[in-house]
Amino acid sequence: MANRQQTIYLDNAATTMVALEVCEAMLPFLGESYGNSTTLYHLGSAAQQAAETARQQVAGLLGAEKEEEIYFTSGGTESDNWAIISSVLGQKKRHLVISSIEHHAVLETCEDLAKLGLEIDFTALPVDVEGRVNPEELRRALRPDTALVSIMHANNEIGTVEPIRELAEIAHEQGVLFHTDAVQTAGKIPVDVKELGVDMLSLSGHKFHAPKGTGALYLRKGTRLNAFMHGGGHERNRRSGTVNIPGVVGLGKAAELAGEWLESEMPRLKQLTEKLWTGIAAAIPQVTRNSPVEGSLPGMLNVTVAGAEGEAMLMYLDMHHGICISSGSACTTGSLDPSHVLLAIGVPAETAHGSLRFSMSHYTTEAEIDTTIAAMSVEIEKVRAMSPTWDG
Ligand code: PLP
Repeated sequence: MANRQQTIYLDNAATTMVALEVCEAMLPFLGESYGNSTTLYHLGSAAQQAAETARQQVAGLLGAEKEEEIYFTSGGTESDNWAIISSVLGQKKRHLVISSIEHHAVLETCEDLAKLGLEIDFTALPVDVEGRVNPEELRRALRPDTALVSIMHANNEIGTVEPIRELAEIAHEQGVLFHTDAVQTAGKIPVDVKELGVDMLSLSGHKFHAPKGTGALYLRKGTRLNAFMHGGGHERNRRSGTVNIPGVVGLGKAAELAGEWLESEMPRLKQLTEKLWTGIAAAIPQVTRNSPVEGSLPGMLNVTVAGAEGEAMLMYLDMHHGICISSGSACTTGSLDPSHVLLAIGVPAETAHGSLRFSMSHYTTEAEIDTTIAAMSVEIEKVRAMSPTWDG
């Protein structure tokens, strides 16, 4: 391993550092306050009380009407699976509508349901060159047997924010439930469940400085959704399993912090994103921006660099500069297939391999962005020199 002087972490869409305030809030529940929240003695009620405070903090971040609308889960994947699987199994309807750029937690769940022999099928709506769903496409896709529409609030690879309010209205006109995967938006941009008009919303704690393995499903009061995990009847009989009290406390604290930081962080991260883009575009010929300039997550930039393998750039930036970023390939599956998101917005498969994603957080500094721009311009020369596809 290289002898690194520094780490510049620009992969916050993958996960974030746990905030110090969050660690401090969790510590007592990893130590002396270790009770099970369902027990009746004082250790149990302290745990129960802590979980309810966290529920209020998460409800506060989402503008939920009642804290009982928040159900703690193990993260975004579980929340997405729960919303989709239980919506279908709880109704006689057999059709789902999603977008073609959903996270695998949504895509694979729909694909697996379709394979189960339950005669379930789904429509994946196309997106435009910026990754946006056209509400009219949704209107056309709805069927009398549509059980659920699930469209993400913002995309995890390019950052495009979807017109959720409009999409949810269209679904509701036809009496169809609406779920949104807000894993990339909760704590990053305003997420108000009442304003968005959604029935269900998934979030994940580790994307906004809470620990991994924490998350929640918002379920609008009155929405019918079967239990997902069966057992001891935790989370008002809907999600059994001993509640992860330290995690939930961390999630609550992170939600509170994110709410406090939001207003100042959004313009700051937008400015850093534009600085990064301008710097890269000025230093490197033939680079294309895949993240929209407007209507996109502040702090996320996806670019395609012609004649450079994304993985090679990623490794060079890491080895020589300690810079952590993500490439555009679907490495989650162990393959290096081009990303389905980039293909859906029209990036050709050959060039999609040269994609890089930078994602920032509350802890990202301007100096780190300067260093990254400088490092990019040095490393691109080396990567292109090795590339059989670069003749520039
Ligand atoms: N949905 C989106 C949009 C994501 O970006 C992710 C994680 O990257 C997930 C769902 C899965 O969340 P988790 O890691 O909490 O299971």
